[in-house]
Amino acid sequence: MSKSQTMSNRLLETWELEAEVTAALMSSSEPLPGLQDLLVRPAWHSGAACRSTGVAKFFPPEGGSLSAARSVCESCVVTEECLSYALSRPSLKGVWAGTSERRRQALRKRSLAVALDINKAPAASCSG
Ligand code: SF4
Repeated sequence: MSKSQTMSNRLLETWELEAEVTAALMSSSEPLPGLQDLLVRPAWHSGAACRSTGVAKFFPPEGGSLSAARSVCESCVVTEECLSYALSRPSLKGVWAGTSERRRQALRKRSLAVALDINKAPAASCSG
């Protein structure tokens, strides 16, 4: 495939992605994700199960089912990377690693609580 064909295909993929996300979010009152979040993917995403699926299922309407997205995530080999990525970016919308925004928020709070408990724990003493 020539370089121009590759670029053309990439541009088409980008337009299709933008169209799908726009359509999925039209019925949502949530703020739109940043274009950067939608179009720039980290290197690990090349192995993602969702790479070849539509993105609409990952942006269900408020109160909508996550099961379609979760079924894709269940077969994904980069779930850990995906969850870590999403946890470090609170502004990300939609389903990442099978988790909702609410679930990720709870995980961040739990992680913070664990870190605070660790810092409060008395230093172990060595008596012998
Ligand atoms: S875990 Fe799910 S959202 Fe994350 S890359 Fe894999 S399929 Fe996509």
